[in-house]
Amino acid sequence: RQSHAPDYLEGLNPEQRQAVETLNGPVLVLAGAGTGKTRVLTTRIAHILATGSAQPSQILAVTFTNKAAREMKERIARFIGGNVEGMAWLGTFHSICVKILRRHAELVGLKSGFSILDTDDQLRLIKQIIRAEGLDEKRWTPKAFASMMDSWKNRALTPKEIPEGEARAFANGWGRKLYEEYQDRLSILNACDFGDLLLHVITLFKTHPDVLADYQRRFRYMLVDEYQDTNIAQYLWLRLLAQGNPNVCCVGDDDQSIYGWRGAEVDNILRFDHDFKGAVVIRLERNYRSTSHILAAASHLISHNQGRLGKTLFTDFDDPENDLVSVASCWDSEEEARSIGDEIEALQGNGHALNDMAILVRASFQMRSFEDRFVTLGLNYRVIGGPRFYERMEIRDAMAYFRCVVQPADDLAFERIVNTPKRGLGDATLKLVHELARAERMPLIQAANQLCQTEEIRPKARNALKDVLASFDRWRQQMDGKSHTDMAEIILDESGYTEMWRLDRSAEAPGRLDNLKELIRSMEDFESMAGFLEHVSLVMDKDKAEGHDAVSIMTLHSAKGLEFDTVFLPGWEEGLFPHQRALDESGRAGLEEERRLAYVGVTRAKKRAKIWFASNRRIHGQWQSSIPSRFLDELPEDHVEIVEQSSNYGGYGGGGGYGRSGMGASRFVNQEPFQNSYSTPGWQRAQKAKAAQDAVFERGDFRAQGTKRQGPKTIEGE
Ligand code: ATP
Ligand code: MG
Repeated sequence: RQSHAPDYLEGLNPEQRQAVETLNGPVLVLAGAGTGKTRVLTTRIAHILATGSAQPSQILAVTFTNKAAREMKERIARFIGGNVEGMAWLGTFHSICVKILRRHAELVGLKSGFSILDTDDQLRLIKQIIRAEGLDEKRWTPKAFASMMDSWKNRALTPKEIPEGEARAFANGWGRKLYEEYQDRLSILNACDFGDLLLHVITLFKTHPDVLADYQRRFRYMLVDEYQDTNIAQYLWLRLLAQGNPNVCCVGDDDQSIYGWRGAEVDNILRFDHDFKGAVVIRLERNYRSTSHILAAASHLISHNQGRLGKTLFTDFDDPENDLVSVASCWDSEEEARSIGDEIEALQGNGHALNDMAILVRASFQMRSFEDRFVTLGLNYRVIGGPRFYERMEIRDAMAYFRCVVQPADDLAFERIVNTPKRGLGDATLKLVHELARAERMPLIQAANQLCQTEEIRPKARNALKDVLASFDRWRQQMDGKSHTDMAEIILDESGYTEMWRLDRSAEAPGRLDNLKELIRSMEDFESMAGFLEHVSLVMDKDKAEGHDAVSIMTLHSAKGLEFDTVFLPGWEEGLFPHQRALDESGRAGLEEERRLAYVGVTRAKKRAKIWFASNRRIHGQWQSSIPSRFLDELPEDHVEIVEQSSNYGGYGGGGGYGRSGMGASRFVNQEPFQNSYSTPGWQRAQKAKAAQDAVFERGDFRAQGTKRQGPKTIEGE
């Protein structure tokens, strides 16, 4: 049969095409980096739409980030040249769940205007509960409990369902009780946290078969990207929906499972054809992204992992320059930033766009030296997924004001700003408000209102409190008549918040005022304050989509799925990468997850991968000499070049390069020059000594939970 293939199918290889065209029944695409998995998903959606197999609103498509969802939508639109606005169910698990929950909130004990707590709020709430129970919060920290609760929610366990052993684990037996109280508190606040979004929907589906059946009918096709990083709750959620309808297509790569520390279960992908009956498993082996050197380096590196399915990858793409993967050393992180900055400028001078370059770090503290250096150079950069705009103090405060206006039951917001700026409301007053709120199970604002009618609070504080409450009432009434951006300005002015920073003499104050302005500007893109608030709580991984050419700086974790011509990989040092904490907490499994992270890093590069390590690193003000990462030992010699540094910064002794003597930086480097070390286990030995060293890294996104990784498994029928 000779029919002309539609444009969007052109150029796909036979396996990709099979994955696109096998619309009915479960399909798993299990394939290495850069083989076109995401492209297959996108094309598949285009195919579903183009063949009229479903309406846009009948497709459920899950991406790992909101950004990926946006990009996918744009690409589909380009493929089919049509309108894809109706694709209401394309997004992250979280954003899809919010949407479902808003429609059925009442069925799980919420009201549809519920708010979503961020981590900061969550910790404050846990702290209150731990305190109220009289537990020692220094010993039993809110953070520890949050991560415990997270691991329950990742496994879709409600307080009743957690195993007895774990239920008693926290603070000698308090686990379940605190979890119960926390959930109880949330429902009074009409709020939920991130983990709840999935949990509530699962509960909803389980307790209301009619609702579930409705969604099963609606979603005629379901697609999931980065399936190797789904957790148990996400898997259950998908299973529930797929019961009614087996047209599920998941794509992923077991070698890129890098969120075990956050509860992801690589088993989900390994068990797919067992759990989804009649699944077709498709392998893709041709890599369309990277040059042969980059691919060989990545493949060789990941081959050191035991718990993997193993797969072949080949490419016939080679850049005319065909650069080897480079490894370079430097003295410290400042020199690393200088050298990489120089290389970037050189590439730019040769006509390469900054947009095509990225620096991928293991830990977010590494970003600072690059940011500092790039500011000095006047080099445009953007930090993706890093310390974010919406997490700055003044932004959080301002948002707390807005939340109190939109969501009067939002206790955490109220607490945050009730005495910011200072209004003479002391701890004693606030304690009274808290006690009443707890006793009567009512929101703080309501409790405060009641207390103001009594003589319990001293007149001065009472007046101050009355004032704030009256302001909130007034702003709420004004909301209807004014635009939300005007309202935002009014609220920040009348509350005295803006004034507080105007009077502040600190060096940061002007910047904070600018940020507040920027906040209001960013609200213009939304129709209402509520819409804006929801956006912020959801889109935490949003990068500021600056239009200009800029180098991207991000963690390896947030680089998943992305690609760049040139990728810089700094900080390949023992303790940093692999990260000491991963090794300490999860042993071999931790090391293998670190190695997968290295694989993700290298495979982001299309043409150039440049690895760096520093002989010294300053961590929390402490200098530590470092040992090159064992991962360097695991790169294939034929595809890697050692770059001698010709420049010498700051007079740290002679020549450049790690072979130089007298650098005194790393014992190891002096004893065994890197050049000869591919065949020696020398680094491993040195690492042992190093492992004893106390390298403690503060990492915002690193919370190892000791997840277990199963041994190698084979997919049946393979
Ligand atoms: P990762 O595992 O890193 O997420 P992936 O398997 O999702 O990778 P894609 O991002 O879909 O891979 O594809 C990698 C690159 O190869 C993209 O630039 C994509 O456009 C390109 N590509 C994929 N398939 C083809 C093809 N058949 N012809 C040409 N280019 C392709
Ligand atoms: Mg992908």
